[in-house]
Amino acid sequence: MTKVLAVANQKGGVGKTTTSVNFAAGLALSRRRVLLVDMDPQGNSTSGIGLGPDERTPGIYEALIAHVPMSEVIRETSTGKLHVAPSGPGLIGAEVELVDLPDRNDLLHRALKSVKDRFDYIVIDCPPSLGLLTVNAMCAADELVVTLQAEYYALEGLSALTRTVDAIREAYNPRLIIGGILLTMMDRRTNLANQVEAEVRTHFGDRVFSTVIPRNVRLSEAPSFGQTIFRYDIKSSGAEAYLALAREFLKREKATDTP
Ligand code: ATP
Ligand code: MG
Repeated sequence: MTKVLAVANQKGGVGKTTTSVNFAAGLALSRRRVLLVDMDPQGNSTSGIGLGPDERTPGIYEALIAHVPMSEVIRETSTGKLHVAPSGPGLIGAEVELVDLPDRNDLLHRALKSVKDRFDYIVIDCPPSLGLLTVNAMCAADELVVTLQAEYYALEGLSALTRTVDAIREAYNPRLIIGGILLTMMDRRTNLANQVEAEVRTHFGDRVFSTVIPRNVRLSEAPSFGQTIFRYDIKSSGAEAYLALAREFLKREKATDTP
């Protein structure tokens, strides 16, 4: 069974893309077949995984709106077992174009159906908003992975996110759960980060991954080379953390699969 994970938080710059790329790559290195879907018009996952400007069409936009089959949108990456469905320039105007379509919430879900069998996991990188592109990701997803930057305002906006998830579960996608919460850009030397971590763990309990992603400059450098952290610097603390995350996630999966 394929599981679809959406990495979401309407807050900007909280590690969604860094997590989508490197978590997806971590799963692929753990021998799972993975598709990374870039739903963000900024296209950071697409460039971060190494696709050049002329390799982005057809992309997700064409799959959603022009009915181009997903099989023609998907590209190989330099990480074996990891494929990507890129965000192209068309996606920038998509929120506006989608508004008038009767099935506007369900387009991604439908587009993915024909390729689902080829993958064990589909990881969707969402834009920093709760607009139609994120709603499409939530309608297609089994689970949300919410990234939180370990800083003072980390929990702000989470109630809006939770309300959106509840609304989507009721109206369109009864499967949807917030499956995991991931603390990113953690600096354990600061009291504040440790306090935020304690608060998040008290609030969300075991839904918070034990693995925490440290602040690591190698993670911020890798995308400019179009490389995952594993290719860019396998020995970095960032690579270690994202591999640990993939392992923790797979262990959880195994535990819930066992009757
Ligand atoms: P947006 O909301 O704009 O899509 P995002 O939530 O996808 O942003 P990222 O792009 O992953 O966030 O991260 C924001 C910035 O922080 C980027 O410059 C990224 O390289 C950097 N960054 C992310 N995670 C880390 C980390 N663990 N250590 C150091 N820098 C990081
Ligand atoms: Mg992003």
